[in-house]
Amino acid sequence: MKKFLLALFLFVICSTGAFAWRTPRWGYLPVNVYIEDHPKKAIVESAFNTWQTASGEIVSFRMKDAKLASSLHVKFEDKNPKVQKKDFSHAVGLAATQSPLGFYAKVDLTIFLLSPDTGRPLSDQEIYEISLHEIGHALGLQHSTSRMDIMYPLVHGQVFLSPNDLNMLKQIYLPD
Ligand SMILES: [Zn+2]
Repeated sequence: MKKFLLALFLFVICSTGAFAWRTPRWGYLPVNVYIEDHPKKAIVESAFNTWQTASGEIVSFRMKDAKLASSLHVKFEDKNPKVQKKDFSHAVGLAATQSPLGFYAKVDLTIFLLSPDTGRPLSDQEIYEISLHEIGHALGLQHSTSRMDIMYPLVHGQVFLSPNDLNMLKQIYLPD
């Protein structure tokens, strides 16, 4: 089973060279989502709503109270101590995806709450931006080179989805 790890960095741009094959995607909608209980949970829920609404429901989500009933899980971590790969040591968000047949079977998102470099708490706006970005990965989007896009691989004050973000989504879910 292929397993990918994608990260959103504060200061480091990561490579997307390993993701040249056809983009995995969800084979059914809505996607069942479980977000662990946490004071910041509503921010992440809001980011899911933004993807659903801004895309005109090209993608949709159903929030679940039980982890077992869901395929897309979101958890929170104070810091980023567990990532073994040095390349990910500055990450503030992670998306681990499993897509055995080109369709997502399971996606785990981790949202970090503290800056990995200074230890300062990330703001609600930053957590929202990180959530939008990681949900993008959870839908199959890869990194963008434009700072106008939420899929740009740095936290850069972006708090909405760009036309290009939504076009990338359309190419995955509504191919010509
Ligand atoms: Zn990323």
